[in-house]
Amino acid sequence: MKLKRYLWITVLSITVLFGIILPGRTQQHSSSNTLFQTSTFNALSIGVYQGNTNFKELKKSGNFGLGTVNYLDGEMIGLDGKFYQVKADGVASVIPDSMTSPFATVTFFKPQRLINLEGQINYQQLQQSLDQRLPTKNYPYAIRIQGNFPYLKLRSVPKQTLPYRPLADALKEQSIFELRNVNGTLVGFRIPKYMQGVNVNGYHFHFITANRQTGGHIVDGQFQNAKVELDSLANVEINLPKTAEFDQADLENSKPTKVNRVKR
Ligand SMILES: [Zn+2]
Repeated sequence: MKLKRYLWITVLSITVLFGIILPGRTQQHSSSNTLFQTSTFNALSIGVYQGNTNFKELKKSGNFGLGTVNYLDGEMIGLDGKFYQVKADGVASVIPDSMTSPFATVTFFKPQRLINLEGQINYQQLQQSLDQRLPTKNYPYAIRIQGNFPYLKLRSVPKQTLPYRPLADALKEQSIFELRNVNGTLVGFRIPKYMQGVNVNGYHFHFITANRQTGGHIVDGQFQNAKVELDSLANVEINLPKTAEFDQADLENSKPTKVNRVKR
């Protein structure tokens, strides 16, 4: 009798333990180390600017990320579960859950590795230094750099109207902002070359100031003793738009736009 009771208690304890721990784990497993994106970069490149996923949905797949919002109305940056829109005037505002995005990349950021880049380097050197220190170039990475930045050159894009032009043409109207000695966070990704067209191949960073007042897409910068946090992402999930605009886009003949081309 006694033994039987012990057995029951053991079975109950195991059930209770697993009941509590397993659902949490399962949820974490499906959301951690996953790069989630909506639409493809090639679709954005040829002018598929209509939002397809709202931020309430996007937040289920990440608390950290970048992209743009409906009608290409500025740059989007996600940090610590909050998502911001930086319009062409450079002003940042919190994005309401009901707003949609035509192209976004998000993840639940969990830094696994820290790379210290000593001294002052420019944006190109930052990318080269990171490339030399990555454990492999065959995984996508989420990247966070927090701190003070001696110089950042940022851009944003104005809202587009129908008929939509390709991204390369829309970028001709981009606004450029220069910030000096600024505190804030760079949120970015490095995407392997084999994913070219699906996402932005190579490094892609957006910035938001510590006071969340301004930011944008990084086109250049100076970095002083940058502390770079990396999260390698073993899973990729792509949510393809369920819109007529996406269905009719000529993706068979599309090429990705170079996002860092700056009009001089
Ligand atoms: Zn960008």
